[in-house]
Amino acid sequence: MISKEMYELGSKRSAIRELFEYGKKQAEIVGSENVFDFSIGNPTVPAPECVKEAIIELLQTSKSSEIHGYTSAQGDVHVRKGLAEQMNSTYNTSLGADNFYMTCGAAASLTITLKALVSDSEDEVIIIAPYFPEYKVFIRNAGARIVEVPADTKTFQIDLEKLEEAITPKTKAVIINTPNNPSGVVYSRETIRSISELLKSKSEEYGSTVYLISDEPYREIVYDGVEVPFVPNYYDNTIVCYSYSKSLSLPGERIGYIMVPDSLVNAKEVYAAVNGAGRSLGYVCAPSMFQKVILKCMGKTSDIDLYDANRKLLYEGLTEIGYNCVKPDGAFYLFVEALEENSRNFAEEAKKLNLLIVPADDFGCPGYVRISYCVDPQMIKRSFGAFEKLYNLYG
Ligand code: PLP
Repeated sequence: MISKEMYELGSKRSAIRELFEYGKKQAEIVGSENVFDFSIGNPTVPAPECVKEAIIELLQTSKSSEIHGYTSAQGDVHVRKGLAEQMNSTYNTSLGADNFYMTCGAAASLTITLKALVSDSEDEVIIIAPYFPEYKVFIRNAGARIVEVPADTKTFQIDLEKLEEAITPKTKAVIINTPNNPSGVVYSRETIRSISELLKSKSEEYGSTVYLISDEPYREIVYDGVEVPFVPNYYDNTIVCYSYSKSLSLPGERIGYIMVPDSLVNAKEVYAAVNGAGRSLGYVCAPSMFQKVILKCMGKTSDIDLYDANRKLLYEGLTEIGYNCVKPDGAFYLFVEALEENSRNFAEEAKKLNLLIVPADDFGCPGYVRISYCVDPQMIKRSFGAFEKLYNLYG
């Protein structure tokens, strides 16, 4: 007898992975230049030079145990200190090393944070559509109930009335993600201010803290100077889950952090619980060398301009054909209205033209598709003929 739940999770691929695998097989049949794979969010822009330089320097100048050995469970203290200093100078905060827990990317950050917060099987965690599908897996794993707030399809900000309706005395946390995967929208200052006020008043009304979990792997990936409000500066009970997967193009190195500011109610206990959850899930001592690499690359990012060029090319090209696209201000996804109500069918029609786009049903937002534009710009150019054919099918 094994875990049925884990068996099911492990034997089914996500819709995105399914499409990605299909694309690789299809490329062998029709040639890779004839497959337009917009399925996955794997950064194509190389990691900045500082990553390579840091690795070489570390390998040449450090003792093996310093770069390959265990660090403290919560991460190397010098790394956490450097991180705190960098955040303080960027966001005018007063953080210290013990506000950070280094871990394996945003997925581990979220899993640990949820495990640390959820104390009862009746606890509820709210997610706001469109959302990253894995949130559901992580919330279930922490033993809480999932509560979904539908998308505000007019603005793709947050429908505050619906959010208010969803909050109950059992609400333990709300997860937000801005810049957003899959919509590409950045929540405005107004949105962050309103959600903060709502959570403050609901926490007071119910006499229990509603935590805001801010999932921020795309924090620096924004265009046209759009501001990404720093959520902890608006709401005291915010825990930040960050990853270098996208900002430094290091998804395979599994490095990121959880930030637990002192402004949190019972901050010290929450930080201890984060350490405990990391321990219980086996996420102690994040990859040692990459902790040190990110310390040497503080404040740097991959070349966002390359994504920006793709964004413009795709947005303008598809809008010109006639598609309705959500204006993309951040991340590297374009969110497009499907041309029929059933977005799964629509994506199937696209697949027949070797256009691999993801129906947004699993993101909690049927009727839309996600197009990932961290791809070769030449592929975007080659794909327009297929997008036009798809459009004309519905003409
Ligand atoms: N959260 C969001 C919104 C994401 O898009 C992703 C990855 O695509 C993750 C979390 C997981 O990121 P990581 O690879 O750092 O675990």
